[in-house]
Amino acid sequence: MSVIEQLLREDLRGRTAYGAPQLDVPVALNTNENSYAVPAAVVDEIVAAVAEVASGLNRYPDREFTDLRDDLAAYLSRSGTTVRPEQIWAGNGSNEVLLHLLQAFGGSGRTALGFTPAYSMHPIITATTGTSWVDGLRGVAGGGAFDLSVESAVAQAQAHDPHVVFLCSPNNPTGTALTLEVVTAVHDAAPRAVIVVDEAYAEFARPGTPSALTLLPGRPRLVVTRTMSKAFAFAGGRLGYLAADPELVDALRLVRMPYHLSSPAQAIARATLLHADAMLGTVDVIKAERDRIVTALADLGLDPVPSDANFVLFGGLRDSRATWQALLDRGVLVRDVGIAHYLRVTAGTPAETTAFLDAVAALPPDHL
Ligand code: PMP
Repeated sequence: MSVIEQLLREDLRGRTAYGAPQLDVPVALNTNENSYAVPAAVVDEIVAAVAEVASGLNRYPDREFTDLRDDLAAYLSRSGTTVRPEQIWAGNGSNEVLLHLLQAFGGSGRTALGFTPAYSMHPIITATTGTSWVDGLRGVAGGGAFDLSVESAVAQAQAHDPHVVFLCSPNNPTGTALTLEVVTAVHDAAPRAVIVVDEAYAEFARPGTPSALTLLPGRPRLVVTRTMSKAFAFAGGRLGYLAADPELVDALRLVRMPYHLSSPAQAIARATLLHADAMLGTVDVIKAERDRIVTALADLGLDPVPSDANFVLFGGLRDSRATWQALLDRGVLVRDVGIAHYLRVTAGTPAETTAFLDAVAALPPDHL
């Protein structure tokens, strides 16, 4: 064991870091980003917003990001559910917001339950805070392999009595959305838990998939996390947020570093929120590409999972690693999410979809 390994916390030894490859390839469809660049008009607003705060960079930013909270609350309230500014918390990506939740409500001697396969960072963030992770299961007899039924979720929540529960809807990497019945049932079955509904992909959901935001009133243990990284085409801006009860939000101030959102970060996020319609203008095109991928992959003899997100998980592969490499050799980078016989592809532009589907169609027959 090296000196550093000896010094490292025992519970971190032997772990591997989050590592989606960042490769320079013609068609990058591996991290569920929005493939469309920020519109030129919004770029001008962003530049102006940064210029405005630049001379004040000698001062710390507004620690409570008051104006940004107002704007995020207004954006969420567009969904029809009123969200007040004091219900909002934000961080450098929703990963940081999730970290704050685990720092405040997890920790040594506490457990967090998730239903896998789900977002790979949930167990990693959990582990960094010394919280124990419990790998719950998905899958419904007679239903979809990645569905989560009320009965199964409730039984697992009761069995583990966790302090934090992760529900991911639409779920990464499967694209599966949860019914609100699952959320309320898990909430009631885990009476000492903070229930985190990770809705990073909410804006891509098909009609009839309601957000858990509607469940917030009267449920002080319920949290809905969102991000500007996906539908909002703002992954590089690193702005994630959550909506919850004001008292829970206030508790997060105990664990965040002071001034964690820089003034340029706050200004840029506000400038883009001002142009929410322009930033979200590509969502319908991306949803159409997602549906095209599902149909086309099924026609090619593969097994795509119907998706409410901006990506598609598809199965039917003999050796997912070999197919991942074969697609990369053709300039198309997709994601090997570690599920045998499956890969995940992000829905991007029509041209990117075509490049991906052409690469799949060109696979030698022994890949299927
Ligand atoms: N939640 C889910 C389900 C995700 O897929 C991601 C990003 N892949 C995140 C949260 C984190 O995104 P960010 O930190 O960019 O907001």
